[in-house]
Amino acid sequence: MPDFHTFCPFNEEHELTFSEKEIARAKRFRNKSGGKIMVACPFDCRALAITKSDGTMPDDVEAWIPDESDAICVPLLNDTVIRMPAGFVLEAGVKLYRPGSGGPLLGRREYMFAHGIDPECFLNRG
Ligand SMILES: [Zn+2]
Repeated sequence: MPDFHTFCPFNEEHELTFSEKEIARAKRFRNKSGGKIMVACPFDCRALAITKSDGTMPDDVEAWIPDESDAICVPLLNDTVIRMPAGFVLEAGVKLYRPGSGGPLLGRREYMFAHGIDPECFLNRG
């Protein structure tokens, strides 16, 4: 499978490229993202879901993502519910992120799914 090229739904100047490896990882961990193929925009750190252009997401991801004209990124959560991370703690070498609004510590993918932001991306931006 070639790299998947698309645009961020929040800013058309954010050109996104996801490698086969990243998509395979997103697929493998879909149990942590409500069954969605979840990725993040590296420019604004928003969590995105890859769907077909009609909004559906058939199981045979490898078959349809390469058809770039029929695969798009959509916001995972809407703007009213996203939460920025306040920091992280290390537990047994695993980063757990703390929502700025309070709440339980979450791993990176769990945080993206619950709060709509890639916490690692956001905290690295400083
Ligand atoms: Zn973006």
